[in-house]
Amino acid sequence: MPHGKAFEDLKRLMRLKALHTVCEEAVCPNMAECWGGGTATFLILGKICTRSCRFCAVRTGNPAPLSMDDREPFEVAEAAAAMHLRHVVITSVSRDDLDDGGAARFAETIRSVHGRVRGCTVEVLVPDFGGDVEALRKVVDARPEILGHNIETVERLYGSVRPQAVYGRSLALLRNVKKLSMEVLTKSGLMAGLGETRDELLEAMADLREVGCDILTVGQYLSPSARHFPVIRYYTPREFQELKESAQAMGFAWVESGPLVRSSYHAERQARTLCR
Ligand code: SF4
Ligand code: SF4
Repeated sequence: MPHGKAFEDLKRLMRLKALHTVCEEAVCPNMAECWGGGTATFLILGKICTRSCRFCAVRTGNPAPLSMDDREPFEVAEAAAAMHLRHVVITSVSRDDLDDGGAARFAETIRSVHGRVRGCTVEVLVPDFGGDVEALRKVVDARPEILGHNIETVERLYGSVRPQAVYGRSLALLRNVKKLSMEVLTKSGLMAGLGETRDELLEAMADLREVGCDILTVGQYLSPSARHFPVIRYYTPREFQELKESAQAMGFAWVESGPLVRSSYHAERQARTLCR
């Protein structure tokens, strides 16, 4: 269980600045390691999601409207400075209620961090913006060093675990990032254990390479509660290693694969190596 001075300090900072983290909202199993090491992933645009993926612990509902004078971009940058971060990871809930899905808020937050913390790289993990390329363009134009979008699972399981998402739309988002800017690295993540076959996982990885995805994360799905989608199978560390080797052979620039791997796990290491 997460505890200790670094954890308490980080928690106090987040509450002081009225910020949310996906570490807490998604009940991430790595909080002891990440928060103990002084790093966290910011969750912007509120903590209520307009979608209801069956694997996700984040609350579903009607989020409050966005306030234009909201200090969130400023507070994220201030928190990043206070935490002495060299790499900031920012994600959000899906905001299908907003015209641009929250893209302008992402852009403002990226610019705010770059302006406030000299030399700090920024990674955003974005929702699919309903396939709106102009919304995506707003985010890409703010020049994050890494833009991630998780496809989460194999195409066959979308209807049962991710009903409001579309496999092809998520792949298209990653392809479009490269069309908008070849300088932005792209990243995606898959969960193992939702009932997919090994071949389906390999197909999904190949699809990601096909759209130019640079960084891949693969981790074990853990069900947040008895109401959520059940774990169909646990993969062994050896199987995660085999998946990593297969993905590396496909040409990903970086692969993290292991039981507790999540999108932002070891994100700073990836950025330090790949963003020069
Ligand atoms: Fe937070 Fe990511 Fe670390 Fe989990 S892996 S605790 S979400 S920074
Ligand atoms: Fe969770 Fe993202 Fe699905 Fe919302 S869109 S329920 S935050 S996985």
